Amino acid sequence: MTGSSEQGPVVAAAGADEVEISLYAARQKIYPRSVSGVFVSWRWVLVWLTQIVFYGLPWLEWNARQGVLFDLEARRFYIFGLVLYPQDFIYLTGLLVIAALALFLFTAIAGRLWCGYACPQTVYTEIFLWIEKKIEGDRSARMRLDQSALSMQKFGKKWLKHALWVLFSLWTGLTFVGYFTPIRELTIAVTALDLGPWQSFWVFFYGFATYGNAGFMREQVCKYMCPYARFQSAMFDKDTMIVTYDEARGEPRGSRKRSADPKQLGLGSCVDCTLCVQVCPTGIDIRQGLQYECIGCAACIDVCDDVMDKMGYPRGLIKYSTQNGMANGWGRAELIKRGLRPRVLVYSAILGLICVALGVSLFLRTPLKVDVIRDRGALARMVEQGYVENVYRLQLMNATESDQIYSIGVEGLPGVRVASELEMAVASTQSRAVAVRVQVPPGAAQPGSHSIHFLIRSNGGDAVQVKEKSVFLVPR
Ligand code: SF4
Ligand code: SF4
Repeated sequence: MTGSSEQGPVVAAAGADEVEISLYAARQKIYPRSVSGVFVSWRWVLVWLTQIVFYGLPWLEWNARQGVLFDLEARRFYIFGLVLYPQDFIYLTGLLVIAALALFLFTAIAGRLWCGYACPQTVYTEIFLWIEKKIEGDRSARMRLDQSALSMQKFGKKWLKHALWVLFSLWTGLTFVGYFTPIRELTIAVTALDLGPWQSFWVFFYGFATYGNAGFMREQVCKYMCPYARFQSAMFDKDTMIVTYDEARGEPRGSRKRSADPKQLGLGSCVDCTLCVQVCPTGIDIRQGLQYECIGCAACIDVCDDVMDKMGYPRGLIKYSTQNGMANGWGRAELIKRGLRPRVLVYSAILGLICVALGVSLFLRTPLKVDVIRDRGALARMVEQGYVENVYRLQLMNATESDQIYSIGVEGLPGVRVASELEMAVASTQSRAVAVRVQVPPGAAQPGSHSIHFLIRSNGGDAVQVKEKSVFLVPR
């Protein structure tokens, strides 16, 4: 993989024998040209899909509450019918493992598929560019506008663009915070100018990040900030699909009339129109080979296919292919066959297994969590009739959507009993802490520490039972 530089190092004579070399290269603004085609359409499908989900999800209701809400304050996550407590952290871990493995799998098959189509940086840059194009025009109009002197017209266009960007960014920030605070309450608080300090901070922080990354930083986030861009090449091999230029077919490049025969002119299929460079959001020339800046967006494929159509040449001068495919001239069938290589099959098998395991464990999950903590104030005490008593604090977490009454029992020592309330009501999706007194008759256990188990049962229709271990201390 090679890297392209926008501007070479600056060399300046600093003295008779000394030469000072500046390694700093100023950013040159990129003005991507509009393009249409199959891959651009796919990107827009994904822009719509991801954004409908992102902006729409917090507004969905479920059992008179927000369907998806990560309530950090109450330490509870709601995902429609699923109510998760911090004790369910394993499921989040499972989801992260699935996301990482899916990224490995798709990268091994088709390179930077995530970057080119679904990454938030790509998606928001696409939306911001769309707004920019609607107000300032396409590539050449935007370049002219930026080079022109300040005028009322230029000021108006720039003002309108930034105003829309800011509005969109703040809406994005508000939606983001709406996943952690009920979005309806949040919207009311915004309209009443009564937003809390932390909510205000996160709305503005996330909004500012969106505005800065999609409006200004753009390709620099992919080139210099994204860690995935740095290590994804380790997941590539010679059978990974990448956006490639068919050098054997395209070179020598050169302009010509549409009616001219390239063979007679000694030219390849590339008409050197540079449109593939003009549409590239990272400003690289794919004809120089695979470069780490390429995010695999396939805009150059769409525009080059268009050029090929106009010239009456076959499509595919720039196309999705593999290094092996290009070297051996393989067709689609061979590429697909090579795509199903051991690495891909192993990733797929592990991914499938983890998905099934997570699904089964979620299905079988007990909707009741119990934490048992011994009362540290009084380890053990003698009560009436010589009974030994230990006190515990039970945290009962109801992970169902209905109110529950739980019965509390204990086992593990002869004659052991619960001397406090035997039943406890806990409202739907709520948790409740209760003090539980456990007593053992005199002489039933030797002095020392003994293992006991609390048995918590729900008395509802779908009875569930949780067994939690603890210790009972008998004093000397
Ligand atoms: S768009 Fe196609 S024909 Fe035009 S310069 Fe790029 S590779 Fe050559
Ligand atoms: S080289 Fe082509 S695929 Fe790569 S980023 Fe540029 S336009 Fe997208």
